[in-house]
Amino acid sequence: MKLTSLAVIFVIIISPFIFISGQEAETAIQDQRLRYYYDNIIDNAIVDSAFVLSNRGTGLTYAGDVNISDTDARELAAQAFFDSVYYSFNAKGNPSLMARVDACIPILVFLEREGFSLYALDKYKNIDGQNEIRHIWFPMQHYIGEVISGRFIIRYTIDSKVYVFDMADQSLKEGDYSDFDDIIPYFIERQAFEDIRISAIKNSVQEEIMAYMNYYNQWALGRSISVKLEFPSIDDADWKRALTDEGIIVFAQGFPILSGKNYRHYALGGARVIRKAPITGYTYQGILYYCRASCVHFRNTIISDPAFNQDSIIYFSNAYEAAANGHFPCPYCRP
Ligand SMILES: [Zn+2]
Repeated sequence: MKLTSLAVIFVIIISPFIFISGQEAETAIQDQRLRYYYDNIIDNAIVDSAFVLSNRGTGLTYAGDVNISDTDARELAAQAFFDSVYYSFNAKGNPSLMARVDACIPILVFLEREGFSLYALDKYKNIDGQNEIRHIWFPMQHYIGEVISGRFIIRYTIDSKVYVFDMADQSLKEGDYSDFDDIIPYFIERQAFEDIRISAIKNSVQEEIMAYMNYYNQWALGRSISVKLEFPSIDDADWKRALTDEGIIVFAQGFPILSGKNYRHYALGGARVIRKAPITGYTYQGILYYCRASCVHFRNTIISDPAFNQDSIIYFSNAYEAAANGHFPCPYCRP
């Protein structure tokens, strides 16, 4: 056989494989895009939801002075989250599609000042006596730490307030952590307190989610819509970010994908960014700067300068955003 014929045969044999691997690469790219698209939907929904939560629901209506209870604010925030996702998937108003979306987003965790609540899938009997699966509120849990010195049980909050239960005399006291630094050595240094507080909150939330996942995996076993829940590993930096203010954590998994591992994503939505507009940008002496909202130099010197143009003030949600818009960090408050 001539060498050219051999080459032709070789090409005939090998080409389907070349075609397939090209196809696979294309699929992998499409798959990556799809995952990115899902991530975006979830991230946007959590921002919408955190916005509603931080405005206590008033962002949805014009009734700004109506006092909305925390429970209602949570409910509205949860609705805002799911509405945002439903609209993104064009599923709003289509019960079976909405149920599929629900199944992929089994848990929202609402972190609030005094405790946290799970809004998670559960089965229940509807008025026709049929089993249905939907998100329900689980009872609020507190952020409880380990027992200290063999006698103090501490309940933490999202800020520096603590509740100290003394098992020795069965007393319960509340106050700023620094009020208890004479009896609890960890409360002498701010950093030590922060570390112990964050680990207490993180452990309380994780334990509750794990307990829920075990429960869910038991009843959901064998159901066609179910995906086994697995606890995502959350970066410590993300925990710290989540635990500095009220916020929401969402777990999503099992959206249809093209190849590779199951889709899994978690997202955090903090109320802080939206509520405080923490970074102020402005132009001063022809230069774009950005400052912390609390910057004394900005408040005392720049704003009162007659040459300063008030109209140049613009708010950013973080330093990155300010820098991306061409602003330089203020040398005084170092934002
Ligand atoms: Zn400044």
